[in-house]
Amino acid sequence: MTYDANNIFGKILRGEIPCHKVYEDALCIAFMDVMPQAQGHTLIVPKAGSRNLLDADPAVLGALLPVVQKIARAAKSAFKADGITVMQFNEPAGGQTVFHLHVHVIPRHDGVPLRKHTGAMEAPEVLAAGAAKLKAALAG
Ligand code: 5GP
Repeated sequence: MTYDANNIFGKILRGEIPCHKVYEDALCIAFMDVMPQAQGHTLIVPKAGSRNLLDADPAVLGALLPVVQKIARAAKSAFKADGITVMQFNEPAGGQTVFHLHVHVIPRHDGVPLRKHTGAMEAPEVLAAGAAKLKAALAG
């Protein structure tokens, strides 16, 4: 399977569709997941096009994990989480639904199960409020 830039995250990266962005650097952007599995569910997306982990440039992967850590630390603080789940899916059989490499960072609270993957759409004002909290934590 080859990378197809005409995917939803490719469109977000090109500014063709909006997102609730919380972070950007030369390598990647991070924004709120529109169907969060918990409050504060954030996606970290490298700007370089690859379908998933399997075809990614190892140099991109090497630079990506520190950003995942940065977002995870900020999310734990912003959402007063007890823990953080990091997920990354590869190909349909692996659970992937958007075919541009991304990493999920999901704040977790003791005893609260994850909502369904690609379940209900969140209200835009809830996503905006979550993004504001996360940006404040990243700035602090
Ligand atoms: P995957 O299944 O590929 O690992 O995850 C794709 C994620 O992207 C899902 O959690 C889904 O909720 C999220 N998603 C799908 N479409 C959009 C979109 O248009 N905007 C944002 N921000 N997230 C999306």
